[in-house]
Amino acid sequence: MTSPLALDAADPLASYRDLFLPTDAVSYLDGNSLGRPLKATADLMSDFVEQQWAGRLIRGWTDGWLEWPLTLGDRLGSIALGAAPGQTVIGDSTTVLIYKLARAAVDARPGRRKILLDTDNFPTDRYVLEGIAAERGLSLVWIDTDPGSGIHPSQVAEAVDDDTALVLFSHVAYRSGWLADIAEINRIAHEAGALTMWDLCHSVGSVPISLDAWGVDLAVGCTYKYLNGGPGAPAFAYLRSELQDTLRQPIHGWMGHRASFEMGPGYEPASGIRALLSGTPAILAMVPLHANLDVLAAAGIEAVREKSVALTTYALELADEWLVPRGVSVVSPRSASQRGGHITLRKPGFESLLDKLWDAGVIPDYRRPDGLRIGPAPLSTSFAEVHTGLSTLRDLL
Ligand SMILES: *Cc1c(COP(=O)(O)O)cnc(C)c1O
Repeated sequence: MTSPLALDAADPLASYRDLFLPTDAVSYLDGNSLGRPLKATADLMSDFVEQQWAGRLIRGWTDGWLEWPLTLGDRLGSIALGAAPGQTVIGDSTTVLIYKLARAAVDARPGRRKILLDTDNFPTDRYVLEGIAAERGLSLVWIDTDPGSGIHPSQVAEAVDDDTALVLFSHVAYRSGWLADIAEINRIAHEAGALTMWDLCHSVGSVPISLDAWGVDLAVGCTYKYLNGGPGAPAFAYLRSELQDTLRQPIHGWMGHRASFEMGPGYEPASGIRALLSGTPAILAMVPLHANLDVLAAAGIEAVREKSVALTTYALELADEWLVPRGVSVVSPRSASQRGGHITLRKPGFESLLDKLWDAGVIPDYRRPDGLRIGPAPLSTSFAEVHTGLSTLRDLL
């Protein structure tokens, strides 16, 4: 097996690790849950407080803060989403944006009574759609996905019909890491006249995305995982420009109004993507994104993906050699082209090892009942860290 030091020495992105603030973790394998902060983020945050907040006070809103949801959205769109300007906005949480977009979508397909989703989608996606179905008198059509893989186009083809208003799946399955074929699933759903929505939380910043080219109608994702935005950083929403005149989100706040500061009597939506906004944007929480997008743009998403594949391939090699003989099973796709940026290992009793792993400075992600997710963020994780993490796990087993 290749030594981790040789892999690190050959890693074209190795120098990016120095851009992150140091941590006491010897092996941080949870970049798919909360990314690490950049050094530049600490500087930008204090600079923002001192220069912009304290310095400009309320004048900051017209200096540019009011545009941040759109300008940052456009930058994210061009660097990581394959989205032309005017279709991406930053704000709210992923959960709230799923509600806003999915409600808008089902209302734009009147007469169609079904929403298509899969049993292994992220809990918040499932819960929000259950709520919308109850609210609008729709029914949910559940595709039973294998927790070790994910949604296949053939399953969508079987389940979708001319009564389907919306389909919602995750690009990368949060458990298995399965990478869905968005373009093909969209083609199938569109043939039946349904709108398509994708949750990009586990792919943005780690897997190249081409929303425009893939014909995605709506998408959401978070910025605190592979985009290192920090705990609770705001999410993003994408709404294809052709749909912006017809889809109407249900939370009619003043910031999505045609003229927020006229304070007029009735709600009139702003034109374009701004209509997805509701209340005052979380400016302070958007500060880190400026730094993260610079770094991602410099590294390039294709290079990030290449390293990500190398990291998970290496983790799988180590797992096969050390962990599988000790009763661990790999519940992630073996083929790199079907895999996002993380893998999941399962063994009953993993939960009892968590404290010991943390004590040893090894931080993976745990998902009940018995799954350890290994999510090495490509820009901040070395091959040596993967080696340390999995060898510690081997020793504990
Ligand atoms: C992390 C994640 C979320 C999180 O939603 P929040 O509203 O930010 O809590 C949603 N969907 C998926 C697929 C995720 O991985």
